[in-house]
Amino acid sequence: MNQLHCQQNAEYYPERGKMAAPFLETGMIIGLKRSFQVEKMVGGGGFGQIYRAVDLESKLVVAVKVEPKSTDPGRIVLELNILVQLAHSSHIPKVYYSGETGAFNFIIMQLLGSNIAELRKFQKTRSFSVETTARVGIQCLEGLKQIHTLGYIHRDIKPSNICAGIGEHKRILYIVDFGMARRIRLPDGSFRPERPYASFRGTSRYVSLAAHERKETGFVDDIWCLFFSLLELVEGLPWKNIADQDQVCFAKRQLLANFQSRKMGRNFEMFPQILEHTKRTDIPDYERLSGILKSCCVSFNDLEEFEWDDH
Ligand code: ADP
Repeated sequence: MNQLHCQQNAEYYPERGKMAAPFLETGMIIGLKRSFQVEKMVGGGGFGQIYRAVDLESKLVVAVKVEPKSTDPGRIVLELNILVQLAHSSHIPKVYYSGETGAFNFIIMQLLGSNIAELRKFQKTRSFSVETTARVGIQCLEGLKQIHTLGYIHRDIKPSNICAGIGEHKRILYIVDFGMARRIRLPDGSFRPERPYASFRGTSRYVSLAAHERKETGFVDDIWCLFFSLLELVEGLPWKNIADQDQVCFAKRQLLANFQSRKMGRNFEMFPQILEHTKRTDIPDYERLSGILKSCCVSFNDLEEFEWDDH
């Protein structure tokens, strides 16, 4: 993090999400060695807020992710660290700068478009086509492979953490929010020891059965999150209105006991079967899983524009 540079007095608002009171004001300037002018809030998560801003020197439009220092400063530092290590990955936003202002830490990064949870809701059918779903899956598998190769698991893969690119990157999807990531493999290739009990991390609707059971998770568990996300995008999840975690877990077991997909077809049935046979410390077969997604499509073209019009 760069040195403190406070242009305005920022206050900490305890509310969460995009509806929370803004941490930063429109027009304020942040940054020390480089200056960025805040324009408007474009996203809000469980901890932070995302703003569109302009780099006053290069005029590049950027995103600012800001988190109150009073939450857990380790989160944004971890996120920054991972983003820097993933600087050359095609499905992770580029990081340009970081710093602090008043009560907040911030990261300046590549500005993205809407997340695919929002984009799905804008569709007339509230769902994506098989082709779009397969493209989302294949691009996310590439992104996850890049993250996993570094030894990290994301632990909160879900539609609202997958954003479409903008401008020349509008056919590319990006994985965001590394605040819950964990390093499970060390640079020497060894795995961190398995804990007998792992506290719950992630979002109940999408996590793997292992996460529900408070077991140590691995690379494959990110792909389970992706699997449930894809199912939601293409045809919805039976547990969408269930809040109780145990009931969600039960509904997932029921679904997997006889998994069939109305829209994706028979080939998609192999996807969870492969995951079931992938152990926590196994490297998932990303290519085979991508091949399954491709085989679900009548025609697959990753170069076309996506079916959504960004809002
Ligand atoms: P939190 O860590 O607080 O949960 P996230 O990183 O998940 O926050 O971001 C919240 C939302 O902001 C995301 O769902 C996404 O829609 C949006 N967002 C995240 N990163 C960017 C970005 N670089 N550009 C544009 N929007 C983004």
